Amino acid sequence: MANDPSHRVVIVGGGAGGLELAAKLGRKHGPQCVTLVDSRPMHIWKPSLHEAAAGTLDIYQEGLSYLMLANLCGFTFALGELQAVDRARRVVTVDEVLDGHGDMVLPPRELPYDTLVLALGSVSNFFNTPGAAEHAVTLDTTDNAEQFRLTMLKAMVQVDQAKVRDPSARLDVVIVGGGATGVELAVELHEAGGIVAAYGLPNFRADRDLAITLVEGAPRILAALPEKISRAAHTRLTELGIRVETDCRVAEVAARSIKTADGREFAAGLCMWAAGIQGLPLMAQLDMPLNRIGQLVVNGRLESPDPHILALGDCCAVPRGENGTVPARAQAAHQEASYLVRKVTARIRGTAEPQAPYEYRDHGSLVSLGQDAGVGSLMGRLAGRGLFVSGTLARVMYMSLHLMHHHAVLGTWRTATLALARLLMRRTHPRVKLH
Ligand SMILES: Cc1cc2nc3c(=O)[nH]c(=O)nc-3n(C[C@H](O)[C@H](O)[C@H](O)COP(=O)(O)OP(=O)(O)OC[C@H]3O[C@@H](n4cnc5c(N)ncnc54)[C@H](O)[C@@H]3O)c2cc1C
Repeated sequence: MANDPSHRVVIVGGGAGGLELAAKLGRKHGPQCVTLVDSRPMHIWKPSLHEAAAGTLDIYQEGLSYLMLANLCGFTFALGELQAVDRARRVVTVDEVLDGHGDMVLPPRELPYDTLVLALGSVSNFFNTPGAAEHAVTLDTTDNAEQFRLTMLKAMVQVDQAKVRDPSARLDVVIVGGGATGVELAVELHEAGGIVAAYGLPNFRADRDLAITLVEGAPRILAALPEKISRAAHTRLTELGIRVETDCRVAEVAARSIKTADGREFAAGLCMWAAGIQGLPLMAQLDMPLNRIGQLVVNGRLESPDPHILALGDCCAVPRGENGTVPARAQAAHQEASYLVRKVTARIRGTAEPQAPYEYRDHGSLVSLGQDAGVGSLMGRLAGRGLFVSGTLARVMYMSLHLMHHHAVLGTWRTATLALARLLMRRTHPRVKLH
């Protein structure tokens, strides 16, 4: 069926869901129909940001250039931050792009659309906790992850130096939020700390001088996952020497400590906030219904109240069951992108759009517990009510999720080549980024 080249699709946000959608639509309909906007020039799959923060993944090696992907997949890429959506004129404004010296590289631009897909992701939710925005780092962007990595590297070097004068010197890291992000980060930091020390911090011993505390408000970590997974992860963290505090609410974050609602205070040379998400502040500009955490409320067909605006991923609340919503996960963003490929294709071709609503399929959850271990459950026809997996198998399955995302974007051969190249690079590079 022929394309209607006059139907302009603009996708804003090239993350886990938006990039997959742009790649699949681009291959079908070409760059005159499909434009992707992102505020960054490189794509990194968000679930790997805890590895970037620990330095076990180098963002400069990992990042895929959007311009390269646009060329490969047949969409147009526009670099810049979304500033405004003019719903009456059906135009989005993309902000100017400046270089490191403040000189303008690209001017502000207006992009007209017939269908706008919002795929902007989410940012951390501090739940109005005093001091959190000022003193805690988040894992919202690659810049955040890189900032955390550099700060931690510097802090470790300082402790290494200080140990000469003061043997009790140590680095206290507090991670707020015992969901998958917090748990994965805790283990990754523990492993990375040991490796960095081995590369040239003669006085620093990670098992003695790096104290990691994971703080969770619920009675157990990984509260959204089955109890068996939560218990296995808790045991693993404790075995590694990571302190886990459950039923513990953070009341305040200060420059070098956190205070809890029950009156305790934990030292925190570094504090990472991984305790919840919310929609981006600019969602409020849309003048459409948002839920209590600022996500755009869409219906089961991922439609907003404006017929020209669709949404997917973390930035929107998709209904599920009686009163629930689809969880904010890469798995959901991926499925929603697949659903929207059919819907947007129908719009471009001027045919009837599928009427059946999108249905979230939970294929299970896998949590990385370091480079060699993981834990999780698989759902689906093969696994029946949920199959518990752990150890190396779970870790390999976890890594395959990342490869599946690459596959959706790059195709089979490029994904295989990339995976092989990265495997070979591991032989010539340190396991942790040291600079
Ligand atoms: C450390 C970590 C580990 C995780 N692990 C898992 C996991 O194991 N499994 C799982 O299912 N989920 C996991 N998640 C959650 C998962 O990453 C998200 O649910 C998923 O990335 C959401 O996809 P998205 O496409 O909605 O948004 P994102 O992937 O966040 O992409 C949003 C895109 O929008 C761009 N953007 C933002 N603002 C603007 C703007 N103003 N203008 C232009 N562009 C903009 C961003 O640059 C980004 O490219 C993890 C998250 C984190 C932080």
